[in-house]
Amino acid sequence: MHVSRFSRQLLACLLLAVSLLSSPSWAAEPLDVAALSDQPLSLTAHVALLEDPDRSLTLADVQRPELAARFTTDLPASSALGLGFTRSAYWLRLPLRNTSSSDVQRMLAVENPRISVIQAYLPDAQGQYQVVVTGCDMPGSSKVYPNRNYIFPISLPAHSEQVIYLRMESSVGLLIPLQLWTPQAFHAHERDDYVGQAWYFGIATAMILFNLMLLVSLRDRIYLLYVTFATCTFATLAIKNGLAPDLLLGGVPLNSNAVYYSGTSLALAAMLLFMRRMLGTPQLLPRTDRLLIALVALYLLTPLAYAVALPLFSRAAILLNLATALVVIGVGVAAALKRQRSAYFFLGAFALLMLGGAMTSLRAMGVMPTNLFTVDGIQLGSAMEMILLAFALADRYNVMRREKARVREQLLHTQQQLVHTLLSSERELEQRVAQRTEELQVLNSKLETLSLTDALTGIANRRHFDEVLEQEWARAQRIGSPLALAILDVDWFKPYNDHYGHPAGDACLRQIAQTLASTVCRSSDLVARYGGEEFVFLAPMTDAAGAQAMARKVVQAVAAQALPHEVSPLGHVSVSVGVVSLLPSADSNPQMLLQHADAALYQAKKQGRNRVGHE
Ligand code: GH3
Ligand code: MG
Ligand code: MG
Repeated sequence: MHVSRFSRQLLACLLLAVSLLSSPSWAAEPLDVAALSDQPLSLTAHVALLEDPDRSLTLADVQRPELAARFTTDLPASSALGLGFTRSAYWLRLPLRNTSSSDVQRMLAVENPRISVIQAYLPDAQGQYQVVVTGCDMPGSSKVYPNRNYIFPISLPAHSEQVIYLRMESSVGLLIPLQLWTPQAFHAHERDDYVGQAWYFGIATAMILFNLMLLVSLRDRIYLLYVTFATCTFATLAIKNGLAPDLLLGGVPLNSNAVYYSGTSLALAAMLLFMRRMLGTPQLLPRTDRLLIALVALYLLTPLAYAVALPLFSRAAILLNLATALVVIGVGVAAALKRQRSAYFFLGAFALLMLGGAMTSLRAMGVMPTNLFTVDGIQLGSAMEMILLAFALADRYNVMRREKARVREQLLHTQQQLVHTLLSSERELEQRVAQRTEELQVLNSKLETLSLTDALTGIANRRHFDEVLEQEWARAQRIGSPLALAILDVDWFKPYNDHYGHPAGDACLRQIAQTLASTVCRSSDLVARYGGEEFVFLAPMTDAAGAQAMARKVVQAVAAQALPHEVSPLGHVSVSVGVVSLLPSADSNPQMLLQHADAALYQAKKQGRNRVGHE
């Protein structure tokens, strides 16, 4: 029993000696924490690291000399240990010493809210290890110090040494920033940190509320998409930064990586939907738009995968998000090339977000120093993005308003043109109607003339004569004056026709009409062709003697023409005239004038023709 105990102790001593010789880490000097300025002390150069691929080692295991010897200490002095996507658990060993003669309080800070599980083994006053199990996949109440990060207050009595162990694992990339602060300096840093966060969430809240109000008043769906996108981003960044309330979502803490990755998916899906609407991709790039919709659908499915097996999908998730960033840039550039005005804003806004993200990543990789822009880069980028996008919405509204005004002006112009055209065509129509009316009037008067004129001789026709006879008869009756009528008949005209032919007969009739018209020329008189080779003249206010004198003049004028008529006993064309003058009375009518004139003509014929006959 004693022997075996002794031999075991001996073995341990030997192993210790071997490990002391083989591994300088075991020999590493503990870090003196007594003299610490207001600046944080990065511990990456002071910790020893051991990978536990099976995640099975216990504190007792890693304290055993053979494992203790496997801790590596030659870690690069950077602000954080970047261990990548790993399923291994990592053990960190940190030997500390207080050389001063007073107790020292320090804050050990792991400023990465995304580490799934952290087990901190902290020695108490009795030198016993107290274990704290916390991490984002644990409830927030597991934290020993209320902060969005993981803070472990430690105390070292005067002239003491202790070794702190930290065990960490993560379902996503494992990045371990490890710092030591004096409590006073940490509290100042903590205030600054929260002020920085408050700035971002304040800006985001303002943008969300403002655009919510715009949504209510303008009722444009794009504001709903903006608000959704901004709210998802807000929530995702709150979770990412460990600021979400300590609640469980389906049994999973709200600040956990699964919820953070799901939130990222939803925020990206909302951003894609917002981008589609803002850039008008369904119309501008219809084929790419289908890809965007597919991407949105994929993003909406990812929370299921993350809930089931985040470690399996976390690397693919990062690649998907990177691919989405490329797609977004591609779509933005394509839309910008098509002169889509909103695309310029969108690209600018997205570039700011990417820049912020890049700065945060570069800082995590140790390429860029830790400062306001690199620590809160993604928030800064996100805030700028939200502001620029809201500005783009205002610009879009402005463009739409201008476009509306332009369309209205165009409409007005078209309307004016239409009115102008209508007016001028109306004027044209009026002119044409006037012209046609005039033409019609001319035609009408021509027709009237034609209807009252004898076609062969050009003097008044029978219709005209009948009308005038009625009028003159009535007038004569009214004023009580005589009305004279004479009927002319060409003598031996049938033989004339037979001898000279019908056309010559027509010419003869025209000649007689001329003679008659030029002989009876008082303006109140009317000469007319009564029919065939018979003519009449009507002479108002003319008594029988006057009418007979007129008739004689006509007979003489025709005879004086001496138109040859070989088959007439006279040898020339002659006319016989029957003349009458009546004073219209109550019991007489115009027909009586004609009858009397006809009878007189008969007398003239009977008496030998070429003369005036009267009753
Ligand atoms: P009378 O001395 O008794 O009047 O003898 P007449 O031959 O003239 O007899 P009547 O008056 O009966 O003859 C009328 C003739 O006039 C008949 C016809 O040949 C001719 N006539 C009638 N109208 C026209 C016409 O428009 N043109 C021509 N060329 N001849 C006509
Ligand atoms: Mg006759
Ligand atoms: Mg005759």
